[in-house]
Amino acid sequence: MERILVSACLMGRRVRYDGGAKTSSDAWLTGWREEGRLVSFCPEVEGGLPIPRPAAEIEGGAGGAAVLSGAARVLATDGSDVTAEFLAGAQSALAAARSHGIRLAVLKEGSPSCGALSIYDGTFRGHRTPGQGVTTALLESNGIRVFTEEHVDEAAEYLWTLES
Ligand code: SF4
Repeated sequence: MERILVSACLMGRRVRYDGGAKTSSDAWLTGWREEGRLVSFCPEVEGGLPIPRPAAEIEGGAGGAAVLSGAARVLATDGSDVTAEFLAGAQSALAAARSHGIRLAVLKEGSPSCGALSIYDGTFRGHRTPGQGVTTALLESNGIRVFTEEHVDEAAEYLWTLES
C-alpha cells in the first residue's frame, strides 16, 4: 500500500507558528487516514522550531529552491534567520518519506515549508506569490510529487496511477 506524507497541521496537530492547526475535513484524507496510509509530519517542528514561533517567510518570495541553493534565507518576523531550521526540517521530511517508500505528499498551501503552488512574498503583508516552500522543493527535486490540501483529488488520481 502506498503511504502518503501529509502536513501535520492538516491532521489536526497544533503545530503551526500560532499554536493552532488547519484541520482538513477532506474526504480523501479522512479515508486515507482510516486506511493507515498517512504519515503526518511538520518540518518546522522537526527542524527544531518551537510552538508557537514567529511567522517566517522566504526572502523576496524567492521560493524553496533558492533556499536550498543558498541564494535566499528564511527570515522570521522578529528578524531572526531560521534558514538552518527550515533546511533541517526539509531534510527530515525527505528522510521520513524515504523510510516509508513515499512517492506523494499532500502539504499545506502557502507555507514557507509546505507550500506547493504559492508562498508569501517575504514582505509579511499577507501577499502570496507563485512558488514552493523549502520542504516541497526538496521533496519534488527527489521525485516525490507534492499536492496541496486544495487539490487532494489530483493526489487521488496520482495515487491511482501509482497503484494501477
Ligand atoms: Fe503545517 Fe507545514 Fe507549517 Fe508544520 S511547517 S505547521 S506541517 S504548514
